[in-house]
Amino acid sequence: MLLLIPGPVQTQPQTRAAMAQDIAPWDDGFRPTYARIRERVRVVAGGIEGEHVTLPLQGCGHFMVEAALRTFVAPGGRVLVPANGTYAKRIARLGREAGRDMVLLDLPDTRGARPEEVAAALAADPTISHVALVYSETGSGIVNDPAAIGAVVRAAGKRMILDAVSALGALPLDLAAQPELDVAVFTSGKCFEGLPGIGFAVARVDRVLASAGQAGSWAFDLADVYAHALRSGWGSFRFTPPVQALAAFDVALDLHAAEGGQAGRLARYRANAMQLYDGLAGLGIQPYLSRAEQGPIIVTVRQPGDGAFNLGEFVEALKARGVLISNFFTTEAPTIRIGAIGAIGQADIAFALEAIGATLDAMGVTRRAAA
Ligand SMILES: *Cc1c(COP(=O)(O)O)cnc(C)c1O
Repeated sequence: MLLLIPGPVQTQPQTRAAMAQDIAPWDDGFRPTYARIRERVRVVAGGIEGEHVTLPLQGCGHFMVEAALRTFVAPGGRVLVPANGTYAKRIARLGREAGRDMVLLDLPDTRGARPEEVAAALAADPTISHVALVYSETGSGIVNDPAAIGAVVRAAGKRMILDAVSALGALPLDLAAQPELDVAVFTSGKCFEGLPGIGFAVARVDRVLASAGQAGSWAFDLADVYAHALRSGWGSFRFTPPVQALAAFDVALDLHAAEGGQAGRLARYRANAMQLYDGLAGLGIQPYLSRAEQGPIIVTVRQPGDGAFNLGEFVEALKARGVLISNFFTTEAPTIRIGAIGAIGQADIAFALEAIGATLDAMGVTRRAAA
């Protein structure tokens, strides 16, 4: 089956093979692997040795986002969320339920947030302490610009939290150049092409130290993860980790480096996304985003068939032809969401486009004339 989903993504056989072993995570034979992963991840995020640290947690991206909000925002603190997609709204819910005061900056879900919009919202409410931004909006495929938005956050004397879950590994990040960033979070199972199971935060040490004690949760306290590393070593976990997924992640990082790191991976994903974007338009399906707003991670298109389209039926019929895509959409208008990430290339995209065309034909879905 060819997986064209936002994650967990298709992985390389070598990565999956690393899972086929029993490992004791506290064993001296494994601790160096975990410590090495933390260093490699910090480097990919552009963190500075001694200034930034990698603080992992077991689990998924939502856990990391909640941990970041709890750790770095004081209880009752106020956070601005540029809301141009579903993952931004999830940040708001995670923060609200953790007792933080989340302020939504409502924006259309078809374009990136503009720095001047964020600057105006910060100027209008001086009680806001943080901006929580989604880097790659996985609901639609748009990409926000953390460097440009970070610059206005910095100028306003505020702090920033970055949800880079579907970005890091492929989209660039330079934590060293963005001192306003308390933390960036991401996971093993998206652009790094690892197996799901581990979340990562790369955070500023000074902010971690200044934030100790405010999480209101032992499990989700990144300051406690840091304190534990100082006490017990960088190869140690507080609680039992998905250790096979960690072993696989080390291999996934080797493959990431061999591909040319972030730049190499971005080039492949961008080629995949543009091939999908143009190929779907060629099948008479309208893109949801303009070419300028289309990011390299996810391609969304409007559902064809003039209101009579059945997404569930389409996904099942496409699966029977060997291609699995997302079976739900999260955009304002009904769309189909297709992933351009994972261990896939141009031949896979060509195969998928062929299967999509054949499935639509078999279902008798009417389309516009090919673009
Ligand atoms: C996937 C994703 C998440 C959530 O990740 P889970 O592992 O499903 O919890 C959060 N934010 C963004 C931008 C994502 O793409």
